[in-house]
Amino acid sequence: MIFRQLFDPVTCTFTYLLADVQEREAVLIDPVLERVEDDLALLDELGLGLEYVLDTHVHADHVTAAATLRKICGCNTAISARAGVDCADLLLRDGAVIHTGALSIHVLETPGHTPACLSYRCENMVFTGDALLIGGCGRTDLQGGDAARLYDSITRKLFTLPDDTLVFPGHDYRGRRSSSIGAEKRNNPRLRLGRDAFLACMDRLDLPMPRRIHTAVPANRACGEVHGP
Ligand code: FE
Repeated sequence: MIFRQLFDPVTCTFTYLLADVQEREAVLIDPVLERVEDDLALLDELGLGLEYVLDTHVHADHVTAAATLRKICGCNTAISARAGVDCADLLLRDGAVIHTGALSIHVLETPGHTPACLSYRCENMVFTGDALLIGGCGRTDLQGGDAARLYDSITRKLFTLPDDTLVFPGHDYRGRRSSSIGAEKRNNPRLRLGRDAFLACMDRLDLPMPRRIHTAVPANRACGEVHGP
């Protein structure tokens, strides 16, 4: 498998490229609009076509490159069927499988950060979006977030994956790149506390609003199609 972890330093967003070596068709998870040129250059350098763009959720901090990449590459875009994004080509539900070459990407619904968050598992890697972060998790105070649902998504779904499954999150703000299910079960300071303490902790976070939420959310509901300047 060809695998790359890409990073947008402006929003600390990770984008992931997965591709089957034989078929030369790639999947991008959570590409960022401002980084389309870099993504296209990388695909070109690796000799890959782009088959799918998969978004983990309707992002509040950056605009997805889905619509732009679809226009340029003719790829299919995908997001949760529950996200209310009717411009996507594939509306995904729990248990769906996306095939590209010999690779199978399994869809897991992991709501809580938003009601329509997906994680994607491919072989021994899971791309958790903003559900499970390294030593943390996504906020649950915006966009229909729900701390109890997030706790259940992480502990009843993600934590049932094998301990050696590698965790690739949607963001990291401290320069870390990946973790594992086993390490997060043992060390994640929020999840280690148990359900009641987790809920109390999420309730106390008091985070600032994402700077671009009022433009990013509507743009992402339109697959990242941005109009005007
Ligand atoms: Fe998010």
